[in-house]
Amino acid sequence: MANHFSQLAKKSRTNGSSEKIAKEQTGKPSLDIYKLGDDVLRQNSKRITKVDESIRKLAREMLQSMYAAKGIGLAAPQIGINKELLVIDVNFEDSAAEPLILINPEITDFGTTLNSYEEGCLSIPGVYLNVVRPSTIKLKFRDEMGRPRKMKADGLLARCIQHEMDHLNGILFVDRVTSKDDLNKELIKEGFNEKDVISINQSND
Ligand SMILES: [Zn+2]
Repeated sequence: MANHFSQLAKKSRTNGSSEKIAKEQTGKPSLDIYKLGDDVLRQNSKRITKVDESIRKLAREMLQSMYAAKGIGLAAPQIGINKELLVIDVNFEDSAAEPLILINPEITDFGTTLNSYEEGCLSIPGVYLNVVRPSTIKLKFRDEMGRPRKMKADGLLARCIQHEMDHLNGILFVDRVTSKDDLNKELIKEGFNEKDVISINQSND
């Protein structure tokens, strides 16, 4: 599995950016990461109309915070900024692999195969639960230079992109968990309130 994921990330390298960030971050994330229960996580993000140095600087700060927090993805709403900007690095252990910076991402196609995989989120630390999602996607986005790009993704990368894109629509992965028992157990264990979940599943198991 790990090998498969690293191959994936190598593929994603060709779509990567020119932003160079040291991945071995120590200490606290430089930006505050908002947690489940904070309203800013529930708002829709706005498209970025101009990709300029301020956006690139924000992306660099988000990458530093993501690496410091040992995450593989971070969306701008998680640091309190409702803009359509994501940073992702599913290959954080490989210092040579470049991270992905996705601006105004749009999924243009979902594969028909679904799979279930355990997710976590820097905004809900300590909570890990299975979520069902399409296993492959196609997307378009702008890179950190504002250039339009397209890519296909599968495996961990596809999952991570979908998870982060949910943040842009005010959706958190716990909203998609079908097992309410598991969900409540995990949330209580970590001191979160189940009332802050906005379930988009009807299942009661
Ligand atoms: Zn998240």
